[in-house]
Amino acid sequence: MAAPTSGASVELADVVKDYGTGSLALDSLSLHAQPGEFVALLGPSGCGKTTALRSVAGLESVTSGRISIDGYDVTTQPTNKRDLGMVFQSYSLFPHLDALANVEFGLRMRKVPTDERRERALESLEMVGLGGFGKRFAHQLSGGQQQRVALARALVTRPRVLLLDEPLSALDAKVRVQLREEIRRIQTELGITTLFVTHDQEEALAVADRVAVMRAGRIEQIGTPESLYTQPATTFVAEFVGLSNRLPGLVSGGFVEVYGVELPLLDPTVAKGPATVYLRPEDVEIVGCAGGAAGGAGAAGSGLLTPQIRGTVVSSSFLGSIRRSTVRLPDGELIAVQHGVSVKPASGENVSLRFTGACVSVSPREAPSSVAA
Ligand code: ADP
Ligand code: MG
Repeated sequence: MAAPTSGASVELADVVKDYGTGSLALDSLSLHAQPGEFVALLGPSGCGKTTALRSVAGLESVTSGRISIDGYDVTTQPTNKRDLGMVFQSYSLFPHLDALANVEFGLRMRKVPTDERRERALESLEMVGLGGFGKRFAHQLSGGQQQRVALARALVTRPRVLLLDEPLSALDAKVRVQLREEIRRIQTELGITTLFVTHDQEEALAVADRVAVMRAGRIEQIGTPESLYTQPATTFVAEFVGLSNRLPGLVSGGFVEVYGVELPLLDPTVAKGPATVYLRPEDVEIVGCAGGAAGGAGAAGSGLLTPQIRGTVVSSSFLGSIRRSTVRLPDGELIAVQHGVSVKPASGENVSLRFTGACVSVSPREAPSSVAA
């Protein structure tokens, strides 16, 4: 087992990256990862995730701002002075070297003696579950195995910071989930500070201590997965993290009215008037449904005692432990409902819905102009 690494803090302070394209790739980005913390950078394509990571790595020079590792200003330091390991999306193994030689590479560069090099590389391969694979070349390894070797190669020098840029996005769904859990396990064992870039919100929520949601070169919100999901600070975060329904509402006197139902406002400062309301599918319940033993049982539940909303089932999907149904409301709006598998709404069936939780976000209806800004 490798000696435990103590992770270093990583700080970006007001970092700007201007490629001269007319918009900033990083627009005064600030982020402080604590030693040993696993921070995911989450955001749509083009929001600056890779640029942020490459700036921390020293592969990109920043236009202004400061980058510190372990409290030391490394803004102008070359990559090899920053004590980090990196894994990228595309398989980046040297094709002419076997797995063991790939992993040894960083140690060879550091002139570590052969015996020690071999021992540490084997140890590193063991750690990623590829103990017996040292003699394989990249073309003899699956995508997931290649990324494991890349991870072993990144960790063999025992860096204090690990940078991962969409390391799982080329893999199929099952391998992705396995490998993300393994990355998290190894990261926790080593205590290595990790920045993990992904555009997949589920992946970010599943592995990170904190998630930084990025938009247009900035961090829109940073927080624990739970806090982002239950208290998104902006509608962008509400839409990007988790599933939500967008429904028309009317804000007045501390409540927002949605289809005749008054829901409490998490943020009482929202302007009165027409609004777009974001409601999670698990906060909507089907109460009148012919299919399934539990149909209608929810009416006696502890949800808000509210008028019921009528709708027609469009579709319903069995997802293993839950079922998700889409219901069309009389005005044509579609609403996603998440419920137990014992409730089996049939397409075309008329059902009643009830809101059982607060909306996660409310924005004034004039929102389209602010989206364009
Ligand atoms: P992400 O990784 O989130 O998809 P990137 O960091 O790759 O985003 O890109 C952020 C923005 O910077 C994008 O608008 C992209 O087109 C731009 N960009 C990235 N690299 C370069 C480059 N070398 N030259 C010019 N523009 C770039
Ligand atoms: Mg990228």
